[in-house]
This record gives sequence, structure tokens and C-alpha cells, in this order.
Amino acid sequence: EDVVNKIAAGEIIVAPVHALKELIENAVDAGSTSLEILVKDGGLKLLQITDNGCGINKDDMAILCERFTTSKLKAFEDLTSIGTYGFRGEALASISHIAHLTVTTKTVDSSCAWKAHYAGGKLAPAKPGQSADPKACAGRQGTQITVEDLFYNVPTRRRAFRSASEEYAKIADQVGRYAVHCKGVAFQCKKHGDAGAGIAVPATATVKDRIRIVHSSAIANELIEFELSNAQYGFKTEGLVSNVNYSGKRTALLLFINHRSVESNAIKRAVEQTYSTFLPKGGKPFVYLSLEIDPARVDVNVHPTKREVNFLNEEEIIELICDDIRTRLGKVDT
Ligand code: ADP
Ligand code: MG
Repeated sequence: EDVVNKIAAGEIIVAPVHALKELIENAVDAGSTSLEILVKDGGLKLLQITDNGCGINKDDMAILCERFTTSKLKAFEDLTSIGTYGFRGEALASISHIAHLTVTTKTVDSSCAWKAHYAGGKLAPAKPGQSADPKACAGRQGTQITVEDLFYNVPTRRRAFRSASEEYAKIADQVGRYAVHCKGVAFQCKKHGDAGAGIAVPATATVKDRIRIVHSSAIANELIEFELSNAQYGFKTEGLVSNVNYSGKRTALLLFINHRSVESNAIKRAVEQTYSTFLPKGGKPFVYLSLEIDPARVDVNVHPTKREVNFLNEEEIIELICDDIRTRLGKVDT
């Protein structure tokens, strides 16, 4: 039973960035306006995320890491399951099977914060012989999740990692995506022991400001606002896309479907095709697209490890989006 859980968790969370993405989404779902992320050894030694969201009730702490434990509504569940897992309530459970997990949390109603350790889906003592019950401690409203020694009990997975900086790059990329997308939320991401700023986005930053901070002014200065909605296929989309004066080395596609960061090779290919008639040979665009689709049309039954998303009328929707981008690009003076 435990071995099965461990293997399942190791298949869902293949790299530190996958665990962190789930933790970011949880913090955002909790209504946080500030996320602070600390990473050590590419996330293998430490992934820590501190938010100022609603917190977790002390009474819920015992079951927090049991599979399928979720406080999220059914309707919300459909909206958010894409691009992550086929079903909900698996992220913390999975992490607890393959790492040392510590949760410190305080709700607005609680007079103190509570801290608990987890292993194998259950509360665990901090040290052998101690009680596993949550302990009262000082703390501000919100939640701090600390994931240590990821894959400590999955040696084959652990050995597969070549470099911490490669893993950190994936983490910074994913944090950067959410930092651009989540208006009203401050983001901080730091490498342990690194004096550099890492990613630091204030809550008040506009989307353009966010792109300037996370990416560059060169990109931010050449963006066109993008907006489109369509009743027939039940979607609306908005974002910022680079104009014909910007030409990058590789395509940057920051894609959100129903506020989840996802990948779509179909969209990426279509976007590149659209820009190819406008940009110099080999020149690539920067595209930030937030797509909202009727959840009933999004395929949530993807394999857990699959980060790609499928939705109904994909071809038609992509064509409409690219037609619109083409029109906007055609209107830009060079
Ligand atoms: P899901 O997000 O699908 O519900 P998770 O395993 O990611 O499943 O989280 C389980 C539950 O733990 C959530 O439904 C939520 O109630 C609670 N939770 C997790 N992280 C946080 C957080 N940062 N702030 C508040 N509650 C949280
Ligand atoms: Mg979650």
C-alpha cells in the first residue's frame, strides 16, 4: 500500500517544479496576495512557500495529506483540475509520500499558528517518540509549506537529476509564469544563499510591469494588448502579445487555461506559424495568453503526468485566436 502510494506520487511529481507548481496553485486558491518562495539545491533539498492566504483550520490538519482531501467545490474542481491532475486533493498527499513535509498555518479566527509534520499521507512526529499532533506556535495569517529532501526515498528518481541549476531554471520559469498571470499578487522567489534578487514582483504591478520584471523591458515595450471572445465555442481570451518589432530567439508562450499554467504544442505551433509571415526568418514571438473555456469543454481526463491540455473545438479556437493576432500584427507600424 505504501509502496504503491510512493510509486504513484513519484509518477505525478517527476521534478521539483511539479511539486512547486501545485503549491503555488494552492496558495493562489487560498486567496493570497503574497507568495514567498525559497529554493535550495534546485528544490531537491528545500522547497518552501509562504503565503498570506486563508490558512488551514487546525481541525483539518489531521486529514490534510490524505488522498482526495480537498476543500474546493465541485464546480471549482472542474475548473482547476486541468493541467495538473485528473482528480483533486492529491498534491499534498503525493508530496508527503516522497518528501519531508511540514505545514505551519494560521486562519484569521485562530489565536495562534499550528505546525505539523507529515509522512506517508499522515501526521508524523518531528522526532521519533514525540507526539504527531499539531503544535501551537507563533505565526502570521497564512500558510507556510516546507518540502525537504524531495525523493529521499525514491533513489532512482533522485539519481536522475543532473544539476541543481537546471532544476532551478525550471522552477524560475514556472514561478515567472504565475508572477505574470496573477494580478494583485506579489511574488518573491529566491535561491537559498544567493544574494541576488531572484524574482521580485510587487502586488501592485500591472501585467506589463510583471513582464518587464520577469522578462525584460525590451519585451515589455513591444506588446500589443489582446482580447477576444466567442460565444459559439464558449471561450474568451486576453493577454499581451509581442508586435512585429520584437523578435526573440525562441518562442515564449505563457499559456493559462482557466488560470492554470499549461502547455499546448498545438497552440505553440499555430502561433509560430502566424508570426512567421511578420518576423525575420527564425525570429520568434513572446505571447502571454489567458484562455477561459467552459470547463465542460476541457478534457480533464488526461494522464496525471501529462501537462498538455486538450479542449473541444481546439482547431477552430486556435484559428480564431491566430486570425485575430494576425490582424493586430498587420496594424503595427514598423
Ligand atoms: P486540492 O488543491 O486539489 O484541493 P491539495 O492536495 O493541493 O488538493 O490540497 C488539499 C487541501 O489543502 C486544499 O483543498 C486546501 O483546503 C488545503 N490547502 C493546501 N494548501 C493550502 C494553502 N496554501 N492555504 C490554504 N489551504 C491550503
Ligand atoms: Mg492543490
